[in-house]
Amino acid sequence: MIGRLSGRVALITGAARGMGAADTRLFVAEGAHVVLADVLDVEGQQLARDLDCRKGRALYVHLDVTQAADWEKAVAAAEDTFGHLDILINNAGILNMAGVEATTEPEWQRIIDVNQKGVWLGMKAALPAMRRAGGGSIVNISSIYGLIGSGGAAAYHSTKGAIRILTKTAAAEFAPSNIRVNSIHPGLITTPMVAPIPTDFHKQIISMGCIKREGRPEEVAYGVLFLASDESSYITGSELVIDGGYTAL
Ligand code: NAD
Repeated sequence: MIGRLSGRVALITGAARGMGAADTRLFVAEGAHVVLADVLDVEGQQLARDLDCRKGRALYVHLDVTQAADWEKAVAAAEDTFGHLDILINNAGILNMAGVEATTEPEWQRIIDVNQKGVWLGMKAALPAMRRAGGGSIVNISSIYGLIGSGGAAAYHSTKGAIRILTKTAAAEFAPSNIRVNSIHPGLITTPMVAPIPTDFHKQIISMGCIKREGRPEEVAYGVLFLASDESSYITGSELVIDGGYTAL
């Protein structure tokens, strides 16, 4: 069977668990070769082993998205192992629940480094390889809190807003190289990231959407797949909201 990503090579960050792991499983099932990258080496290697039945189409690499040298190695691993790089999913991210007043300077910097600088470094590192491949697709994972505000996570929300505009900037810059860049804005999705969210706040978020439940990682992965594939060939600089209607109300 020909998959929706047959012949494509993807690099997915934060792939050891949560939404990145769901993207990885779906991409491999749809015929892609995937370099799955994370700082959680044990979990990442386990996922790569689980996917081994797919005839060596998944390779785990250690990649801290804040480190330019790690990015160079991950992109090289994609080209050396699978021949080229066509797709980058900038999914890695961290959350801290602290408002403007409560956020400390080191914590602010840590969130900016992982969530915002990491996306910039990733696009910069992937660009030459995608040019060599003749084009590509980049999907940056933002959030509903890259579209609207909410109290309690000042640094996180700042980074998600920044990703939205960085995506559009890169879309303009990369279009002549046949590389599309889009952002995805998930609502509340069941992953380890949201486990520490206080119960009251969690219930409040659920009650404010049209569909009154959390989303599943797979429900975001299908959006990532669409934007990564040629099915979205005329879409760039765009925002795909996957939030059960939270921002519709
Ligand atoms: P998660 O915590 O389950 O997964 C995030 C992954 O990123 C982890 O595997 C983690 O190890 C990895 N990571 C963290 N720092 C890293 C670094 N420096 N380098 C490389 N990898 C690193 O969370 P998730 O919910 O799957 O989140 C995935 C993305 O979706 C994040 O960007 C997050 O901000 C975004 N998001 C999540 C939700 C949600 O409700 N879960 C909603 C909107 C957006």
